[in-house]
Amino acid sequence: MDLYEYQGKELFRRAGIPVSDGKLAVTAAEARAAAEELGGPVVVKAQVLTGGRGKAGGIKLAADPDEAEARAEEILGLDIRGHVVRKLWIEKASDIAKEYYLSVTFDRGAKQPLLMFTTQGGVDIEEVAASSPEALVRLHVDPFEGFQPWHARALVYRGGVEDANEQKQIAAIAERLYAAFVDFDAMLCEINPLIVTPAGEVKALDSKFTVDDNALFRHADIAEMRDPEAYPPEERAAREKDVTYVKLDGQVGILANGAGLGMSTLDVVALAGGAAANFCDLGGGGDAQTVVDALDIITGDPQVRAILFNIFGGITRCDEVARGILQALDQMTIDLPIVVRLDGTNAPEARELLEQAAPPNLHVETTMLSAARRAVELAG
Ligand code: GDP
Ligand code: MN
Repeated sequence: MDLYEYQGKELFRRAGIPVSDGKLAVTAAEARAAAEELGGPVVVKAQVLTGGRGKAGGIKLAADPDEAEARAEEILGLDIRGHVVRKLWIEKASDIAKEYYLSVTFDRGAKQPLLMFTTQGGVDIEEVAASSPEALVRLHVDPFEGFQPWHARALVYRGGVEDANEQKQIAAIAERLYAAFVDFDAMLCEINPLIVTPAGEVKALDSKFTVDDNALFRHADIAEMRDPEAYPPEERAAREKDVTYVKLDGQVGILANGAGLGMSTLDVVALAGGAAANFCDLGGGGDAQTVVDALDIITGDPQVRAILFNIFGGITRCDEVARGILQALDQMTIDLPIVVRLDGTNAPEARELLEQAAPPNLHVETTMLSAARRAVELAG
């Protein structure tokens, strides 16, 4: 689960990482009131679950409450790469002398958390990694040993931070960021930029914080930070109905049982020259209600031109799924072509059931590849 900047900063604050004071605003009037309360110049920051807001016009300085209101007016409703701005974080403006970068993430290859630090912050870290890889310090932490003082020293020395006062502050922040990463079950904690003010104070000016969904049961307060409105309506509906759904941008709606089979189906649809409109996992179920729920969500996406069921009957028997599909189609009218491929336990019975009772827009195929080809053709 990705957190908004202001939520990530709240966790930073709890972890003892310095951040500026700020207030949330959802209207321009609230932005003005927040600026009045904070006093002095502020920065008006779009809260969206995507980066690069500055470049997209979602971060603006304001000298006084009047300006804060005007900037808020401009930023609210802005579309930043498909994310519409509905919330603003009004923060006391900082003077910036230097912009650094600090993060903790997982290096899956090394099976260890990875600290990254560079004094070339503020910009896209991918750019730094590509253009001057020597400037980016990468340091693994052995999870059993945990963060040690030498990690902090290695980061600042290798990063080329010469000022002793800065070194001390960055070392403390790195230790706390690592602690936050572990304590909040994060998958990414990123500060870009980590600034040094002209007075020599180091603080987090931005936050990118991703918490492991599977650990949210341990963090009721973080789980509550989820903003249902940040997700497309179909994804929200799917979450409510407990259907795994991922929106993609092709034309073939995909229903498979099991994530592995679903992923292979995406590949086979691509091999057949098409693209998936989404990915829907029926999981272990194939009863009528599960199929109705999944079809409801899939057909809610206007991009879908054909639907492809790819079912492997293991414990769930194919004939059960076939009955589920037929019952679902009794309960709802679907005009789109539907291609069904079933294999595994009781597949012949299932195909017979479908061939006898299915409506004309339902096509039964025996292999994954022929089913994908048919679906792509029908979607075209
Ligand atoms: P991002 O573009 O989504 O990464 O948003 P950031 O929060 O990182 O802000 C982008 C840039 O805006 C920063 O790198 C700063 O240069 C600038 N910025 C943000 N907050 C302030 C501030 O308080 N004062 C000043 N002077 N610049 C700021
Ligand atoms: Mn940033």
